[in-house]
Amino acid sequence: MKNYDYIVVGQGIAGTVFSYILLQNHKTVLVIGSKQKKTSSLVAGGIFNPLTGKGLVKTWKADELFPFMKDFYENLEKDLKTSFFHQMPIYRPYRSIQEQNDWLGKTANPDFGIYVESDTNDKHYTSDIYNDLGGLETKYSGWVDLPKLLEAYRCFIQEKESYLEEDFDYSALEIKDKLYYKGVVASKIIFCEGTEAIKNPYFTNLPFSLVKGETIDILIKDATFQSIVNQGVSIIPLGNQVYRVASTYSWNPLDWENTEKAKEELIEKARNLLKRNFEVVGQKAGIRPATKHRRPIVGMHPQYPHIGIFNGLGSKGVSLAPYLAKHFFEHIEYKALLDKDLIQPQ
Ligand SMILES: Cc1cc2nc3c(=O)[nH]c(=O)nc-3n(C[C@H](O)[C@H](O)[C@H](O)COP(=O)(O)OP(=O)(O)OC[C@H]3O[C@@H](n4cnc5c(N)ncnc54)[C@H](O)[C@@H]3O)c2cc1C
Repeated sequence: MKNYDYIVVGQGIAGTVFSYILLQNHKTVLVIGSKQKKTSSLVAGGIFNPLTGKGLVKTWKADELFPFMKDFYENLEKDLKTSFFHQMPIYRPYRSIQEQNDWLGKTANPDFGIYVESDTNDKHYTSDIYNDLGGLETKYSGWVDLPKLLEAYRCFIQEKESYLEEDFDYSALEIKDKLYYKGVVASKIIFCEGTEAIKNPYFTNLPFSLVKGETIDILIKDATFQSIVNQGVSIIPLGNQVYRVASTYSWNPLDWENTEKAKEELIEKARNLLKRNFEVVGQKAGIRPATKHRRPIVGMHPQYPHIGIFNGLGSKGVSLAPYLAKHFFEHIEYKALLDKDLIQPQ
């Protein structure tokens, strides 16, 4: 029997970040990840943004999430000896004078203004982007290259003999004083299965409200802008004049297939923003593990105190995962109270 403090099921951003917090805290962990099952993190645009939506609203817990996230990903980059964390402004061209007034009015509030660049450099964008009224740049924003992070982390834990590639078999889990799974003994198991959690027999009534999303990659010859641009969609600079246009929201059908409809929608929204012609060079589709209340699902099972869940990261996995993984760890190990806004398994 091989002994671990924790088993973590799933190696999307939730399982990756939670297991890294365990390693940072000198716990032993076996991450069980599937190659067969779908991974939302491999489809995501990877954007983190403290001010979101048409109304430019400060995102839930921004003041806690964003400072913690930066240190967390930068440490992880050092351990993995690779770079995937791209902090950069998100440029938001104004759609109308009204919007300009509303947003500038909001930035007068220091609570909000700390997330906005005081001097927006509109000229950086003028050759590529329609921005007749100018625009606003957010701070502490950017994107994480999730496929690169996930792949580097898998290699990192494989070297530590902390990774097992297989579909977790629920029927092979024995719950006694400890947990037994195919020759492994562990004190705790944390499920981080993304949308696959709807098949988990231990958590049957989770309030998921899954949302499909698609992105396209475009080649914009001669484009020079190096920051994310957002207005209706986000256009993310991936390098070599390739940009990702993200993303759509749809509910029917809820599958992982690319559609012409989404491609056309993204092309049209990109055309409304871009002065230059472009060519579509890629497309991806996936499902976000969103919840009805738009809050993550974090907690231990009410009947089985060794079994927990870390899920429901919705459309904000990149910014939510680090702070919440640490918060959950402190709850499990030191009995810290969980944030009352989180959805706890019933
Ligand atoms: C189009 C699109 C755009 C998005 N854009 C952004 C964005 O810009 N910024 C952002 O923060 N978020 C974005 N998201 C949301 C983001 O993808 C999710 O918040 C995040 O990926 C959820 O991570 P997760 O680890 O919970 O789930 P996943 O990434 O789905 O990972 C779950 C993992 O568990 C594994 N698994 C499941 N069951 C088992 C089992 N039985 N045995 C073994 N392994 C198992 C799966 O194989 C998978 O690898 C986007 C999503 C989509 C679809």
